[in-house]
Amino acid sequence: MGAQQVAERFAELYGAEPEGVWAAPGRVNLIGEHTDYNDGFVMPFALPHQAVAAVSRRDDGVLRLHSEDVEGGVVELRLDALAPQTDREWTAYPAGVVWALREAGHEVTGADVHLSSTVPTGAGLSSSAALEVVIALALNDLYDLGLQRWKLARLCQRAENVYVGAPTGIMDQTASACCEQGHALFLDTRDLSQQQIPFDLVAEGLRLLVVDTQVKHAHSGGEYGKRRAGCEKGAALLGVDALRDIPYDGLDAALARLGDEEEVIRLVRHVVTEDERVERTVALLRAGDIRAIGPVLTEGHASLRDDFRISCPELDLVVDTALAAGALGARMTGGGFGGSAIVLAEAADVDTLTKAVEEAFAAADFKTPRVFEAVPSAGARRLV
Ligand code: ADP
Ligand code: MG
Repeated sequence: MGAQQVAERFAELYGAEPEGVWAAPGRVNLIGEHTDYNDGFVMPFALPHQAVAAVSRRDDGVLRLHSEDVEGGVVELRLDALAPQTDREWTAYPAGVVWALREAGHEVTGADVHLSSTVPTGAGLSSSAALEVVIALALNDLYDLGLQRWKLARLCQRAENVYVGAPTGIMDQTASACCEQGHALFLDTRDLSQQQIPFDLVAEGLRLLVVDTQVKHAHSGGEYGKRRAGCEKGAALLGVDALRDIPYDGLDAALARLGDEEEVIRLVRHVVTEDERVERTVALLRAGDIRAIGPVLTEGHASLRDDFRISCPELDLVVDTALAAGALGARMTGGGFGGSAIVLAEAADVDTLTKAVEEAFAAADFKTPRVFEAVPSAGARRLV
């Protein structure tokens, strides 16, 4: 939905023009999966799909929230009554951001918000981060808080971890806040240092397809927590702060020290090799060889499927079918157990590939997948 439509709807709901309109995108992670809570590397890029919010300040300690995409009217909350994990509705995401800002000592005295988003929810494309970041950026501008993008991302992560109660890493919010058009974001999740890596698919005659399997997953669910706990156990057994500290060329020695901890061994192997795949991808993109990242993506999928074990039949079918139909590389992306896969392909092969995946899904009696092209797009920004 465009800025003007969102502003008009705001005026209908609240009886006055908004002070401004902001946008924040969803993201796709090119490579670097389940590395973010291990202090490792990730490499997301922003989608053209975004949350758009019209926002005005209030000075009476009231927060009013409305989403075009959710049934029901305006939700009114009192700022001094906001408390972690008391809200199980969508409003916890924007309210959590206001809570996190205030908890960090920033003076926010209320807001009216109307938003609409084109980021599919629960598809592993970070609709939640888009929602958080668009609110954080709007309040940062309106209340003149002067917070840098990485800091806004941190506060949004705190909102999601503590207020909503979903144990996610820092990647999603940083991607939404910091990505640039035509680039992927090489992010070191330990110190949040970042580099914009040119990733201009179209100029190279390439396309990146996102295949949303339409299988929904609960991101805050038990499996994510188990993997995270297993990684922490691995780091503790190896005597390091985080698995990031195991160098790739020291992996075999580290695994040998884990003895018969089969489950931990698999998790450690994924995380350490995945960090190496991110670094290899960065090097290839810097050298201008986008096609060569295809096999790296496919290796990443095998590691997530066999070692981290968070794939599912639908995601494996996308990857296997796409590769058989001539894709340069493919992998699941996001938290796993459903959500989306990405496919790197020659522009000329897109139609054949899409058809092959759709036919394979029909033959397997799976839900029809949603396939779209992902163009590396702009991060969060003010529209009006
Ligand atoms: P993901 O971030 O992968 O899309 P999450 O489960 O982390 O999935 O976040 C999805 C949740 O975010 C939704 O269930 C809803 O509560 C909230 N959300 C996302 N987009 C919107 C929207 N446009 N309007 C209201 N709530 C939204
Ligand atoms: Mg999310």
